Amino acid sequence: MNLLRLGRIPIVAAGSNIAMIAFFDRPHRASMTIQLHDTLRGKKVPFEPQTPGEVTMYLCGPTVYNYAHIGNARPAVVFDLLARVLRRRYKLTFARNITDVDDRINAASVETGRSIDEITAKYIKAYNDDMGTLGVRPPDVEPRATQHIDVMISMIEALIENGFAYVAEGHVLFDVSSYERYGELSKRNLREMIAGSRVEVAPYKRAAHDFVLWKPSTPELPGWDSPWGRGRPGWHIECSAMAEKHLGATIDIHAGGQDLVFPHHENECAQSSCAHGGAPFARYWLHNGFLSIDETKMSKSLGNVLLVHDLIETIPGEVIRLALLSAHYRQPLDWSAETIESARRMLDRLYGAVRGIEVSDEARAAAVVPEALVAALEDDINTPKALAEFFALARALNKSNDDEEMQRLAAEMYAAGELMGLLGKDPEEWFAGHVVGDMTADEIEALIEQRNAAKAERDFQRADAIRDQLHEAGVTIQDGRDGTTWRRGS
Ligand code: AMP
Ligand code: ZN
Repeated sequence: MNLLRLGRIPIVAAGSNIAMIAFFDRPHRASMTIQLHDTLRGKKVPFEPQTPGEVTMYLCGPTVYNYAHIGNARPAVVFDLLARVLRRRYKLTFARNITDVDDRINAASVETGRSIDEITAKYIKAYNDDMGTLGVRPPDVEPRATQHIDVMISMIEALIENGFAYVAEGHVLFDVSSYERYGELSKRNLREMIAGSRVEVAPYKRAAHDFVLWKPSTPELPGWDSPWGRGRPGWHIECSAMAEKHLGATIDIHAGGQDLVFPHHENECAQSSCAHGGAPFARYWLHNGFLSIDETKMSKSLGNVLLVHDLIETIPGEVIRLALLSAHYRQPLDWSAETIESARRMLDRLYGAVRGIEVSDEARAAAVVPEALVAALEDDINTPKALAEFFALARALNKSNDDEEMQRLAAEMYAAGELMGLLGKDPEEWFAGHVVGDMTADEIEALIEQRNAAKAERDFQRADAIRDQLHEAGVTIQDGRDGTTWRRGS
């Protein structure tokens, strides 16, 4: 084992195969149950799946008429992390759909003169490639709306038969007044909603808030034959049908961005529950907070929409992922140059800690993710706390001079990285052509301690190498009677 290392600089790192071996994420000692914040109950609650040992999760995926923007990437990254956390304990079936029939897609087709199939195929691939760059693993099922029209039609038929929906002028509408619990998820009172409504009542609707399950299509628009004529589904029924087909009548977790609570999830909930004899649609509803750009709402009209496809040209995917995980998922997150720089510096610190340590296969096999980090993630995906634990590990590693301990800590860091979707590169590759960002005072002091230890052992070569490393990072040190002092700059 070749493990001569000091601080961040490997003196010898022969045959480094760091990050080349997959970690098997072993479950930690079962402690508390996972806690999740449920939008319906309005609080954090212990998570118990309906079938012991198994979990079903559905995330509303992209509408594929354009590249995903950085806001769209937030739910993809956050719930990818939740999926990774759940998989440690449960057999998870995670479905993330593709909405490939939508008026915005039709509009994009008209605008560009390209076929709908060409547009959706292009943006489905781009979405998966871009999310892959952010470390988002493919879901277990990726259902497409256009491949589930038959399921939607059956569900709509069941709703009509049972008095929850009605047909009017080629449309099928959900009769909101037939579902007593309408408004429960989004905490809205239907009567107040109706009173305050400014929605024009379409002539075919019985009430303003009745929503479309099926609508007619003109010959040039995509359409399918149905008992109500040639038409296409409404957006909400798509998710209800795909969830039923792949995950069953009642799913454990339903996730998406906060903007989807109303009307999308409220409507999904109403339809599914009514189509399934009153069975709850989802047992836990999770919603991520919104992402703003430089403290401004992202919007096309303001011209501040940042596409992931463009950002990954210049920013490493891991930096974007860490930036998206740096705030708690229910909190707003502001995206700015500072958000990106701070994530980049954090990764420098994490990679810097493991740099030059060649971790043996045995150490890797024995590595477990520190319990405190897992506990933070299992506590409603508390990523700020989990990252703090990650840095505590990096600090311990920076301070260590013991080969065996360093291997163990480095292996734990890789295991933590595997869980969080970070630290997937070889550190040398990470730092290649990339200037190390500012060293923190803690890191500088840890290196000075290591240098003093080397001097005490009369290992002057090592002591000099540490001084050079600090010098390279723009830190000057001075030995005096009272110990070593340091300052930034020469
Ligand atoms: P859409 O393709 O518009 O249906 O959005 C896909 C997902 O991205 C949904 O879960 C949205 O809630 C989410 N989303 C859209 N904009 C933002 C944003 N600015 N911040 C966070 N999530 C967003
Ligand atoms: Zn949905």
